[in-house]
Amino acid sequence: MPRLSCRTGLFTLALLTVPCALPAQDSPDERSARAIFAELVGINTTHEHGSTTLAARAVARRLVAAGLPARDVVVVGASPRRQNLVARLRGSGARPPILLLAHLDVVEARREDWSLDPFTLTEKDGYFYGRGSSDIKDMGAIFVQTLIRLKRERAPLDRDVILALTADEEGGDDNGVQWLLANRRPLIEAAYVINGDGGDPMMRDGQVHARNVQAAEKVYMDVRLEVDNPGGHSSMPVRDNAIYRLSAALSRLGAYQFPMRLNEITRAYFARAAAAEPDTIAARMRMVGESGDTAAMRRLAAGSAWYNAVLRTTCVATRLEGGHANNALPQTAAANVNCRLLPDEHPDAVVETIRRVVDDTAVQVTVTSPAVPSPPSPLIAEVLEPVDSITASMWPGAAVIPSMETGATDGLFLRNAGIPVYGVSGVPLEDGDVRAHGRDERIRVEAFYQGLEFTERLVRALASDGRTEGPTGGSITGRAATD
Ligand SMILES: [Zn+2]
Repeated sequence: MPRLSCRTGLFTLALLTVPCALPAQDSPDERSARAIFAELVGINTTHEHGSTTLAARAVARRLVAAGLPARDVVVVGASPRRQNLVARLRGSGARPPILLLAHLDVVEARREDWSLDPFTLTEKDGYFYGRGSSDIKDMGAIFVQTLIRLKRERAPLDRDVILALTADEEGGDDNGVQWLLANRRPLIEAAYVINGDGGDPMMRDGQVHARNVQAAEKVYMDVRLEVDNPGGHSSMPVRDNAIYRLSAALSRLGAYQFPMRLNEITRAYFARAAAAEPDTIAARMRMVGESGDTAAMRRLAAGSAWYNAVLRTTCVATRLEGGHANNALPQTAAANVNCRLLPDEHPDAVVETIRRVVDDTAVQVTVTSPAVPSPPSPLIAEVLEPVDSITASMWPGAAVIPSMETGATDGLFLRNAGIPVYGVSGVPLEDGDVRAHGRDERIRVEAFYQGLEFTERLVRALASDGRTEGPTGGSITGRAATD
């Protein structure tokens, strides 16, 4: 299409390719989405200097202007500068609501570090630049525009579509998802969540080759290892030394590996992600995905920190403290060990394993940051089929890949509260050019508009009574739908 080519700087007419001199002919919905995107990027929502409240109010104004009743558009939260937006587009109520989720806050960005103003949306050389352009004001704007469009078209919905744009995902004490769950749960109660902040389509040379669907995440837990000792004068050392005991314990822990294990999500991940990998890796991934081959699992884990993290619980020393003077025997030595648990792992069992591996009762093992369990979300056909069919129509050949995040997201709290979460961003990111949290954060202009189209079609498919996207049937792993 000339329009799309134009956005990438080239205008194709018949067989001629010439530099594009025409303005991009955006549709009204694209123009509106872009205006919302620009407004959101233009509002500083960092924890340090910004306010999510201003952004929440800006979105609320737009939704009310689009015809949503004011009672269905609320701005609420823990503190005056950290408010959240929750809006509800009403359907018939035949099925329970779905929740669209993105966060309003962004990571700090300093003007002197950037080559352009981080708090102005700038289009340059086929990219949108700005803090939050990829994390995750792009999806925030896209969700808002999707609601506006469905409202305008009076789309027949058989369920409510709730939008939550939240505070303090990136840090701070007023995490919007936690606050809403604790204080306004009925506002966000839903059959499941589509999280715009996870599960990215990935592109290479302008082509989308993979469409991730984040359906599980590992669980965070910190454990402290501490050795106490009477200490004494360092001119008269004794054998029992807190630092030596701790370091011996850490060496044993460092040599230990937790057993490898698959779950529904990682099994599907290995089976489906194999296609994009070089032959030897792909063969091993298929063996893992299709038959759980343990030798192949071992080889993959040995060759890559990523596969290792996907296949097993990990616990690694991250901080160290000890001693109080250069000329004194240490009275304490302690380390923080950061664990990332497979979602079906029991935290107590991990602590027990650490004690067993440390094998020294003088080393006290205590949990300092407890695990918040986050069960994997079942791969239901209701979500995966439209994702599959829209992906096939927009990005032919791109693999739909269920994934387990090795880090942690806000999805954690919702899964913990019993609400399944599917990370399904619409906006393709480029391999090797993921700039979230970094300098000159950007996405491709065409990726933003593709994200708008993908998301609008997906929400319509998930909430329409006349299901237009995709056939019906079993889930991609061959299991029956579980909801
Ligand atoms: Zn984010």
